[in-house]
This record gives sequence, structure tokens and C-alpha cells, in this order.
Amino acid sequence: MSNIIVAVDGPVAAGKGTLGRRLAAYFDFAYLDTGGLYRAVALRMLRAGEDLHDVAAMVAQARAVNQADLEDPALRAEETGEAASVVAPQAELRAALLQYQRKFAANPPNGAAGAVLDGRDIGTVVCPDAQAKLFVTASALARAERRHAELVGRGEDISLEVVQADLAKRDARDSERAASPLTAADDAHLLDTTKMDIEAAFEAAREIVAACMNDPQVRHR
Ligand code: C5P
Repeated sequence: MSNIIVAVDGPVAAGKGTLGRRLAAYFDFAYLDTGGLYRAVALRMLRAGEDLHDVAAMVAQARAVNQADLEDPALRAEETGEAASVVAPQAELRAALLQYQRKFAANPPNGAAGAVLDGRDIGTVVCPDAQAKLFVTASALARAERRHAELVGRGEDISLEVVQADLAKRDARDSERAASPLTAADDAHLLDTTKMDIEAAFEAAREIVAACMNDPQVRHR
């Protein structure tokens, strides 16, 4: 039997990362934060002083991304996320990162029986055959409040208004781009976490994934 793939897509700060990590821990699956790959490319370019629209430079940086990049705390900074959404629309960059993501999904590290990938286009482009697809959303205000609390908790000095404006800009970039825009797959299960705390959201996500694993018919809403 081939391994299980769980796709967790949605807009910025909807709770995908927390849910993805918790689902992976619960089911004993490997976890890949695919946004980290785009962030790592962007961070490398920022540090090298490269133009964020230079396609050849971004493809070269994508080939150089390593584990240390993915563990760099600067990856989580707002500035890095913003830069990631500038490079992410480039089809050449997306193609350069596609193979890594598909390989991870098909052969999860450490012999795990499954993989959870979170991102924007996992259920639509990277793993269209994933057994379980979640599209996680929350209102723009709820997402901004969560991201603001996270950034302040990490010591960043930033107002809620600035975070709201950044999120709106990134939502627009992620949704309106031609290459792999942010959109729910037809067979994705929608999970609106606006009024849920993390426990309730996890419980709802866990039930959906368990149902998809037990009965492939549940895949189709
Ligand atoms: O999820 P995260 O905020 O870390 O993603 C950073 C940026 O990377 C997103 O705003 C999006 O532009 C891009 N991204 C993407 N496709 C993915 C994951 C992230 O385009 N699968």
C-alpha cells in the first residue's frame, strides 16, 4: 500500500502550520512546511542582496537550499514571509521546488507511513492524489490577530494594523498569481477556524483525516 498523504492548504495565518504539525505527530507521519522552502529562497536572496524578481537567481538559490536554511529563525520573520510571497509567483521557482516536495510526500523521511504537507497548492498541484485534503481558512481579522500575537510574542515591534495590511497584500498576491494560485481543491474539506481554538480545530481536522483514511469515498465532500 502506498503511504498516506495529507494536504493542508489555506491562506497565511489560518492555522495550517500548527494543525499540520499536530496531525503529523498524532498519526506519526512526517511533516513538511512547504512555505519554509519559499521563505528559505527569499531569505537567501535578501542576504545576497539579489533582486527578488531575478528568476535565474531564485532558481539557483532554490537548488542551494539546505536543512540549516530551513531551521534558521529568520525564516519566520514577517519580512521573510513578505519576500517569499514576491518570489512565489514565478513558475520556474515553483517547478524547481516541486520535485523536492513530491519526493518528500512519496518517500517520507525515517520510513514514516505518511506525510503531511502544508502550503498553498498541495491539494491542487503538488499532491493532487492526496488521500486527505484540508483547506483551512479563518476571517482576515482572526488571522491578523493570531499573526500579530505570534510576532509580538517573538519580540517583533509591529502594530495590528500593519499586520492586517501585510496579510491583505499577501492574500492578494497568493490568490491572484497565475502559477498555482491559492485555491481549494474540488475535493478538499473546508475548515473555518475563525471561532475555534486550536484544540477544537485540531479535533475537527483529525476527524476529517481519520475519515479519509478509513473510507476513500469521504475524500469527496
Ligand atoms: O505559509 P507561509 O506563510 O510560510 O508561506 C510564505 C509564502 O510562500 C506564501 O505567502 C506564499 O506566497 C508562498 N507559498 C507558496 N506555495 C506554498 C507555500 C508557500 O506559494 N506551497
